[in-house]
Amino acid sequence: MQQYIIGNWKMNGTKVEAKKLAASFLKRIQEATRPLPHVILCPSYPYLSTVVEVLKGTVIQVGAQDVHPEKAGSFTGDVSVTQLVDVGCMYVLVGHSERRRHHFETSHLIRRKIEASIQGGLRPVLCIGETAEERKSGKALHIIANQLLSDLPETFNTHQIMIAYEPLWAIGTGEVPTGEQIEEVMGLIKHELASRMGGGALVPTLYGGSVTAQNAAAILELAHIDGLLVGGASLKLEDFWQIINASTR
Ligand code: PEP
Repeated sequence: MQQYIIGNWKMNGTKVEAKKLAASFLKRIQEATRPLPHVILCPSYPYLSTVVEVLKGTVIQVGAQDVHPEKAGSFTGDVSVTQLVDVGCMYVLVGHSERRRHHFETSHLIRRKIEASIQGGLRPVLCIGETAEERKSGKALHIIANQLLSDLPETFNTHQIMIAYEPLWAIGTGEVPTGEQIEEVMGLIKHELASRMGGGALVPTLYGGSVTAQNAAAILELAHIDGLLVGGASLKLEDFWQIINASTR
């Protein structure tokens, strides 16, 4: 399977910067002489249309950073699946730890967001991961298995979803799990998905948390890694380009 490199721009930048960054990545990708992974950019809501406009008809896709589970209605400040599809999004991050922490998102809500996304034609990227305390007390695998159980809907197809393993202690901290730790969790995710459904191991499994131009190649070489979810480094042209270029398939 071709790997996926997703850039999560979070709440950063201006319209001019978003346009420039998207156009610069596109230029690099168009000039590439080797096969590249899928590349997905996730700007904040106000710049989705701007970035879609720049990337329309190209190999780079656009994703949103969150979505509301209802189709429409009195939900001030929220954005629906229909609206995201309408502006040209194909992907959406769901259950990012910053949403869970700052917006108190529960597994119940996350599952509803995933169901609504799939139903409306958006591909959700479910973000899961353990805290530092959970890792220290040996509970990481148990937490991951529970999150898969509680956050995922009963049924879905392999091409409708992606899973991003993002240990909370690695996001934005510069700390990265060892290859062995990443593989252990990825192996568990693949195993859990395979035991739930035929072809479950084909659901793309991504790693996220302090990925840099320096460490991307070693992570992308791991057997169960189908891609990366990149925060800070996806805002820097050279760094993100090197990460994309480090893909192995
Ligand atoms: C993220 O927030 O999804 C993330 C992976 O951030 P960073 O790469 O900055 O750790």
